[in-house]
Amino acid sequence: MSVPAFSWERPDRLEEECAVFGVYGKGEDVARMTCFGLQALQHRGQESAGIAVGDGETIMVAKDLGLVTQVFDESTLAALEGFVAVGHVRYSTSGASASWEAAQPHISAIDDVLIALAHNGTLVNTNETRTRLIDEGVQFRSGTDSEVAAKAIGVVTRKTHHLRSGIRRAMEALEGAYAMVLASPDSLYAFRDPNGIRPLCIGKLPNDRGWVVSSETCGLDIVGAEYVRDVEPGEIVRFNDEGMHSEQGVVAGRRASCIFEYVYFARPDSVIDGMSVYQARRNMGRIIAQEAPVQADLVLGVPDSGVPPAMGYAHESGIPYADGIVKNRYVGRTFIEPTQAMRQLGIRLKLNPLPSVIAGKRLVVIDDSIVRGNTSKKLVDMLREAGATEVHLRIVSPEVLWPCFYGIDTDTRDQLIAANMTNEEMRAFIGADSLAFISLQGLRDSIQANHDGFCEACFSGEYPVAIPESTSRKSFLTKADFAQASGLQ
Ligand code: SF4
Repeated sequence: MSVPAFSWERPDRLEEECAVFGVYGKGEDVARMTCFGLQALQHRGQESAGIAVGDGETIMVAKDLGLVTQVFDESTLAALEGFVAVGHVRYSTSGASASWEAAQPHISAIDDVLIALAHNGTLVNTNETRTRLIDEGVQFRSGTDSEVAAKAIGVVTRKTHHLRSGIRRAMEALEGAYAMVLASPDSLYAFRDPNGIRPLCIGKLPNDRGWVVSSETCGLDIVGAEYVRDVEPGEIVRFNDEGMHSEQGVVAGRRASCIFEYVYFARPDSVIDGMSVYQARRNMGRIIAQEAPVQADLVLGVPDSGVPPAMGYAHESGIPYADGIVKNRYVGRTFIEPTQAMRQLGIRLKLNPLPSVIAGKRLVVIDDSIVRGNTSKKLVDMLREAGATEVHLRIVSPEVLWPCFYGIDTDTRDQLIAANMTNEEMRAFIGADSLAFISLQGLRDSIQANHDGFCEACFSGEYPVAIPESTSRKSFLTKADFAQASGLQ
């Protein structure tokens, strides 16, 4: 069975879509702190960056396409004066959404209700909510679900003159994954969907100087904030002159925190729900070494997320670990496409093997996931060209069989190699000597979080929040389904 040709428009892996950050602190340079926080979270989104600041009277926003350091300079930050800030970095593969309007935070100004909202996640019932709001006379600029959420909060707040009611009523209406930070002119809010799908944590600045909210704890570390706790599923937390105040916005549902955060999305120096991401990755390597042992000379990790599990595999198996693959850290998400001639030359934009380490060796190579398989195939080809005598691929996530609808950019099922091939067909396509995936139980056992409720839908197809049929219909079809539906089988 064939898979689609390599596409430079779509990266061959799951891609995080966003990160959020917020600060409340009187007398603090909240815009600068948010800028640093967003730089720590830049791995979660490189398409656009934005910061909105409230000064007690109004809210100012600066946002644009590009990396944080491209969007913000000294003069932009100096203009953002105030004591409450929210920030956002965004990732999206959709060219249409690469616009200033789609960049966040979204400002909603309905009558005298002024708010700035930043959202990580994806809502699954956006169309119905947008239609209802349009019927109420609300106008939209961007077509994003985050703008729908901002306007939904603004409309209720205008009627009730109570922002927390606006947030609560919006949470009752919105379905899907959302970890949100919101600034009014004088307060900071943080809230999370009832299943707690995307991460969101709270930190405190030293000497009671203020509060920080971040998608990951690495965002707290960079501004010197001490981790306090994670925002609970369905919880609304408000920070203002009176300190931190918590209330349950909506009843929490089945806990379903994204298990892939530990595999790939989060930074290894972050801690999510009490579990170090680095340690979880080491554990994954240790467990897959038990589940899928092999005779080899060296263990290599595909940078960056494959390196800690490679160390875990090496420790468990006794096979030496080696740095045999070098990553170009400055390629990132590029919109400059290579020419066809460059592609034929097999340019190596991101990864380059070290022949002096690899030549003549039998390798165990640890990677985080396989989505379409093209990148793994290229990697194995490169390692063989560099002189590897055997390449045994070990993957520290189970087979990705189903698309994600909760804020992660994945292909439809017909594009996911594991949904369309047997393990042996995949191994042959990729060209590895052997191929093994960690079991779902093995992945769970790697993570000792302070809860055991994970979203595992991309492996199991069991979605914690129902996906509307209009969205799922095409996404769920495999190649075989397509062939059958079109009478080819
Ligand atoms: S479907 Fe997969 S990637 Fe998406 S939230 Fe669930 S575990 Fe995470």
